[in-house]
Amino acid sequence: MGFDWAERVTVGATNNLEEIPVHVRAVSGQTRAVAWIRRRQLSVRQRLLEAGRFFVIGILVGGGFLFVPLVHIFAFIFALVMIGLGIARLRARAVLDSAGGVCPRCQQAGDFFVGLGRRRFRWPVEATCGHCGVELSLYQ
Ligand SMILES: [Zn+2]
Repeated sequence: MGFDWAERVTVGATNNLEEIPVHVRAVSGQTRAVAWIRRRQLSVRQRLLEAGRFFVIGILVGGGFLFVPLVHIFAFIFALVMIGLGIARLRARAVLDSAGGVCPRCQQAGDFFVGLGRRRFRWPVEATCGHCGVELSLYQ
């Protein structure tokens, strides 16, 4: 039975989830063509909301400890880090949602581990096999 990629590539109109067929390469050099990634497009509104959350937490928590002796330097760094994360969120137009396919090393089909989500999307996608744990590189 053939694998119809055209059928698998769908763009969800409601959740902005896009499934893209990819090739997989293991660190050992073995490759396979049967894999997919899901990329989530974030709207400007979503990005602003997420960035705003980081800004508010950074300013509230950082600002709250700003006048506490000794701790204030950490509060300042915390606020800067949160603002930095907020800016990163603002710039991330697409994030990696999930990935899966057939592992080139252990030949098992399943989900690939791509981190805890919300990672900014860029090629090639780095992932780990859920079965044997080999590092995988996913590319178009
Ligand atoms: Zn594997």
